[in-house]
Amino acid sequence: MLQISNLSKTYPNGVHALKDVTLNISNGMFGLLGPNGAGKSTLMRTIATLQDADSGSIMFGDIDVFKQKQELRKVLGYLPQEFGVYPKVSAEEMLHYIARLKGIADAKERKELVKALLEQVNLYNHRNKALGGYSGGMKQRFGIAQALIGDPKLIIVDEPTAGLDPAERLRFNNLLSEIGENIIIILSTHIVDDVRELCNDMAIIAGGQVVQRGNPEALVKGLENRIWSKRVRKDEVAQYQKDYKLVIARLAGGSMMVYINSETDPGNGFVSEKATLEDIYFSNIS
Ligand code: ADP
Repeated sequence: MLQISNLSKTYPNGVHALKDVTLNISNGMFGLLGPNGAGKSTLMRTIATLQDADSGSIMFGDIDVFKQKQELRKVLGYLPQEFGVYPKVSAEEMLHYIARLKGIADAKERKELVKALLEQVNLYNHRNKALGGYSGGMKQRFGIAQALIGDPKLIIVDEPTAGLDPAERLRFNNLLSEIGENIIIILSTHIVDDVRELCNDMAIIAGGQVVQRGNPEALVKGLENRIWSKRVRKDEVAQYQKDYKLVIARLAGGSMMVYINSETDPGNGFVSEKATLEDIYFSNIS
């Protein structure tokens, strides 16, 4: 269990990036969803012991993360948002190097581990290629391979699919979903579908605060029969925003659709819509 309690952080420039964040996270894939600037990376880096908070605490089992940074690092796998690679080094060489750093001293053991990891992330055929020549998706899969070294109990992946094309994203998410269920994986993302596809538990963070928390399906169920849509003109959106509880106005096939939240049938040409996790997201971040 990861227990984050009353975490606050203000950067020297005055940005209040985390405001009294409290979250208890158990084994499985946890989605931390929020718009750019919400505070996701700040929270991820704090959990990963890369920066300090001003107040609050984080416990991972018996480990007091702020006081026992080395202990936490031993059980942590981390794929940061900006994952730099040495462009001239091959994936195989790099994994060997990181494995040695993480304390896997036995050469035979290391060789077997590196081979298994390269196979797991589907890069074995590209093992001798320089990392600089890897595509975005390959780099992210390599990032997961390095995060898995040392049998981590807590894995943090920070916006891993942001720059990937749809096929690469699918491949990456499939890989994530195959990592064991007996550890905590925190997936920080602004992509609602990543959370819908992968996570059994989630939180929405906006403006440095946790604004929603729960099981994605259960949250969506709470909006059942409450979402209504209507095709409108662009210049009408502002009026609908005044008259209704607007969830989102978005383009569909070149024209504007408004989605509203209403317990009763609003009439006026609105039709009932199936609630989605996007409705939960947009209801919470504005
Ligand atoms: P997210 O990962 O959700 O996009 P971040 O944690 O990166 O959010 O940022 C939260 C807020 O803190 C933003 O307003 C961002 O500009 C600010 N911020 C992040 N890192 C720093 C920093 N090192 N110094 C000053 N402000 C920062």
